[in-house]
Amino acid sequence: MNALAATNRNFRHASRILGLDSKLEKSLLIPLREIKVECTIPKDDGSLASFVGFRIQHDNARGPMKGGIRYHPEVDPDEVNALAQLMTWKSAVAAIPYGGAKGGIGCDPRELSTSELERLTRVFTQKIHDLIGIHRDVPAPDMGTNSQTMAWMLDEYSKFHGHSPAVVTGKPIDLGGSLGREAATGLGVFFATEALLSECGKSIPEMKFAIQGFGNVGAWTAKFIHGVGGKVVAVSDITGAVKNPNGIDIPALLKHKETTQSLKDFQGADAMDTNDLLVHECDVLIPCALGGVLNKENAAEVKAKFIIEAANHPTDPEADEILSKKGVVILPDIYANSGGVTVSYFEWVQNIQGFMWDEEKVNCELKKYMMKSFHDIKAMCQAHDCSLRMGAFTLGVNRVAHATLLRGWEA
Ligand code: GLU
Repeated sequence: MNALAATNRNFRHASRILGLDSKLEKSLLIPLREIKVECTIPKDDGSLASFVGFRIQHDNARGPMKGGIRYHPEVDPDEVNALAQLMTWKSAVAAIPYGGAKGGIGCDPRELSTSELERLTRVFTQKIHDLIGIHRDVPAPDMGTNSQTMAWMLDEYSKFHGHSPAVVTGKPIDLGGSLGREAATGLGVFFATEALLSECGKSIPEMKFAIQGFGNVGAWTAKFIHGVGGKVVAVSDITGAVKNPNGIDIPALLKHKETTQSLKDFQGADAMDTNDLLVHECDVLIPCALGGVLNKENAAEVKAKFIIEAANHPTDPEADEILSKKGVVILPDIYANSGGVTVSYFEWVQNIQGFMWDEEKVNCELKKYMMKSFHDIKAMCQAHDCSLRMGAFTLGVNRVAHATLLRGWEA
């Protein structure tokens, strides 16, 4: 099932539980604006290359729209649409005053030089600059983009509108970025995992973890889990996969990846097939990479008792059903990975205040937000006798529906 169909299905299920009016349901489903632009740049060798860029602005009832910009060969309008919608519910679950949006460019960033990436980012920003803004739509990094991408976006946007650091988040610290933003999604995943396990009478040090993805999210998540004595028994990324039943030395693996750019040939673990990661023997599985990785082909083989969705929509609805029947507890994406956008909110607040917080304050506030939304989700689960996914969806959708009704529709 494609990402949009899956996301719409979850939304409709939540809407049914909440008993939303069908007109309101339809209005919440249709994106506010879909932007599609051509981005042509000269390559380093002088030839021209054209790419398609998207920004889908899903909903702004609760505040400016917010969400990342993804550079990936598989970026397509349906996927961006789904991710934009997920951002709307995610911001609402986190109780931060934002709506949702997502953007992307269909490209392989690994095949572009730094100067080509800079040109592409600047052209894309030129095409969308009058549709984003501090109180309109605030981009951030996502898969294939980083703080440097945000620095270029900020610089290009500022040529049209004057210096406006709050127009993007996930910036380098020297351009107004927040301390703690780089680690925030991983730290949020860690707090969410702690909250769920403790609710089930368990703790991180007694669990074995398998982590798919060792980029920004996966690497920080692994580091925090390893830091409190959790055993990370398997890790994979696009370069390969490694396993060690006694637990992988994560700082050593990080050093290895930093020097070789790969997980291959790491001495402290055995190589394994990347495809086996999701079905590897473990207690907690944390997908931190692409969407749709858990599907009807592999769901029945999953050994984990807990799945923490650090990626966006890693579990398609068919897998969700199979896993739930097996008794696997799934902590949904719109809560589990909300640490990134929550610290993006702190960054935006600091930029608007013109006052920088220390890292301890950022992390302490993040923990408060993560704990509060976990309890809010549990309350919805109890009220509606539903799964954690539906607890999170009903919480998010209800908050957005309420804001929409308060604003009214008078033309
Ligand atoms: N790209 C991240 C996400 O999917 C962060 C978005 C943001 O900080 O605005 O949640």
